[in-house]
Amino acid sequence: MTTLRVLIWFAVAAVTMLGAVWLAERPGTVTAEWHGWRLDSSVGVLLVALIVLIGLCIGGWLLYRWIVGAPFALLEGWGESRKKRGYRALTQGLAAVAAGDGAEAQKYAKKAEQLLAEPPITLLLSAQAAQLAGDRDGANRAFTAMLEDEHTAFLGLRGLIGQALREGDQAKALAYAERAFRLKPQTPWVVHSLFDMQAQTGQWKAAQETLETGQRRKVVTADKGRTLKALLLVERSRAAERDGNAADALTLAREAFALAPERIAVTQHFAGLQIKAGDGKRAQKTLERGWALAPHPDLAMLYLEASGENDPLKRIGVIRRLVAHNENDIESQLALAQASLEANLWGEARRHLEIAGGTSPPVRVCRLMAEVEERSGAEQAKVHDWLARAADAPADRAWRCGACAAQHETWRSVCESCGAFGTLQWRAPGTFGHVLPPETRAELEFAGNDKK
Ligand SMILES: [Zn+2]
Repeated sequence: MTTLRVLIWFAVAAVTMLGAVWLAERPGTVTAEWHGWRLDSSVGVLLVALIVLIGLCIGGWLLYRWIVGAPFALLEGWGESRKKRGYRALTQGLAAVAAGDGAEAQKYAKKAEQLLAEPPITLLLSAQAAQLAGDRDGANRAFTAMLEDEHTAFLGLRGLIGQALREGDQAKALAYAERAFRLKPQTPWVVHSLFDMQAQTGQWKAAQETLETGQRRKVVTADKGRTLKALLLVERSRAAERDGNAADALTLAREAFALAPERIAVTQHFAGLQIKAGDGKRAQKTLERGWALAPHPDLAMLYLEASGENDPLKRIGVIRRLVAHNENDIESQLALAQASLEANLWGEARRHLEIAGGTSPPVRVCRLMAEVEERSGAEQAKVHDWLARAADAPADRAWRCGACAAQHETWRSVCESCGAFGTLQWRAPGTFGHVLPPETRAELEFAGNDKK
């Protein structure tokens, strides 16, 4: 490149020199006359004068450009450094948020807001800083301002949902969640929080629609969707029953049982309605199928009710028919022990309790043993012995939340402790039950993971 440029310069110089020589060899004069003025000059001088004039014009133009452009260039440089300082403040603010220093983060957020004319970036920092510093109004203001921009609206809604929940304003949180769901129905946290909120407020039908959208968008797995839908149908069936609509209640309960017969609450509700409708035979079939998948003392009670049998000895036979569907479960032995106890067959009751208890009988077995000894007229020492053992015995199965492990007296669809829907399972603490079908186990583990 450089060589080429040198060559061009040589060529230009040579042409100029040749031109000058050529002009010197051919002298000539130029005469100009104007209003009594007369100018005599040679052609060479005139050419030099012309070149100087052109050079002066170019110089003048460049000077003018520099003078006019300078203030703008200065301003530009100033703006550049302002932006730089703004981004530095933004970085420092984000670092303060990450370090959990709310006051420091708010200081930098304010600085970044003043220096940068880009609300979307600085608003997020302001909101997070305010949240960290416990400034609720500041955080609400920043999150609300984020709704103005389409790029930050979704993030703003997430922040506002969190704020509303922290303030305990469920209606507000639900409204924001619905808005977020309309914006991005494929986002898992939106589907899950909207579903939970709708379930918590008893909007079963709306919750079912959310769940179905979640399943279509692959946010909720087919298996989890199936069991959750069954439990929603149970709630809808209960509502129909309360409204005096028995036929609808039964239809919904049947649909639920077809979806998830392994859920005790589903079986119990459906069989209960069948008994009310005077269909004891069908109720027994329902309970037998439920018992095979997930036995529970309430199902045994319903089975006895459905049989219509009142003779204590014959009731043992009824229970035998039920537990034949799942002989190895502790609930089966406990149900037989209970029936034997009610028929005053102490030896039989003791035998079933020994099988149920194994080497370390849980609380329920110890208590029933104490009752057997008491009612059979054994020594008081024996009764006290069993009651003492009950105090140290392993915990029983109970309705425990798979998300927060809270224990409940009776089954309910929404956990009273953490508000999760469909997480209550009949199990011992720290276990997922040893006879639950694999799909139920997988579902439980999934529900557990979900809350982390
Ligand atoms: Zn819970």
